[in-house]
Amino acid sequence: MIRFENLTKIYRGTKAVDNLNLNVPRGTIFGFIGPNGAGKTTTIKMMAGVLKPTRGKIYINGLDIAREPSKVKRIVGFIPDRPFLYEKLSGIEFLRFKAGLYRMKENRLDERIADLLSLFELTDWADELIESYSHGMKQRLIIASAMIHKPRVIIVDEPMVGLDPKGAKLVKEIFKEWANDGATVFMSTHTLALAQEVCQQIAIVDKGRIVASGTSEDLKKQAGVEGNLESIFLKITGGQYPGENV
Ligand code: ATP
Repeated sequence: MIRFENLTKIYRGTKAVDNLNLNVPRGTIFGFIGPNGAGKTTTIKMMAGVLKPTRGKIYINGLDIAREPSKVKRIVGFIPDRPFLYEKLSGIEFLRFKAGLYRMKENRLDERIADLLSLFELTDWADELIESYSHGMKQRLIIASAMIHKPRVIIVDEPMVGLDPKGAKLVKEIFKEWANDGATVFMSTHTLALAQEVCQQIAIVDKGRIVASGTSEDLKKQAGVEGNLESIFLKITGGQYPGENV
């Protein structure tokens, strides 16, 4: 479960995130959508502990991330929009490195790594250097590495960037299974079709504020429009569509 209480971030006078209050229940795939500059990445960076809020609190599974950052990191998997990979490592070495950061025990680690490589269809490339991977393979490895410690909450900024349709389908299925198993997935995305397809709940943010939230049906009612998420988004945000390649 994720909870924001009056979450605010001000950068030198720019209010990037403005008093967000939100509850994301356990087992939900939650979509955080909004136009460019709405405050999505800033919010995600605060959730990942990379940025400190100016005001307000974030609770993850009841833990205040400002007070118990280490405990929170153990239950969270973070997938940033511009991930860093050590390209001179092989896929398997990178997963071992990530497991080391979480101080995972050797016991059954090989099995866990083999399972992840298989799940993300990287087994045949396990011993190749990451620098030889395609963009989509790197993205799948990043997501696999964020799941190495079986996090109960996954925070992901633009999960589908660089994935071809097959890779995107695979990742969607994995997120769905993970959520069915009780994990919470919080994703920011520009891809409205993705949010409509996989997210049980959505918040639309604009200028740092939540302007609508709930299920697709709730959003339709709030916007007073029939149709898909794109029409709702355009109505609520005044016609600004973020676009998938921006
Ligand atoms: P996009 O969809 O373009 O990635 P976003 O919704 O992720 O946008 P943020 O990157 O969180 O939005 O930016 C929110 C606001 O904060 C914008 O006005 C942006 O210019 C501003 N901002 C972001 N980072 C900084 C920074 N380091 N210093 C000053 N202002 C910043």
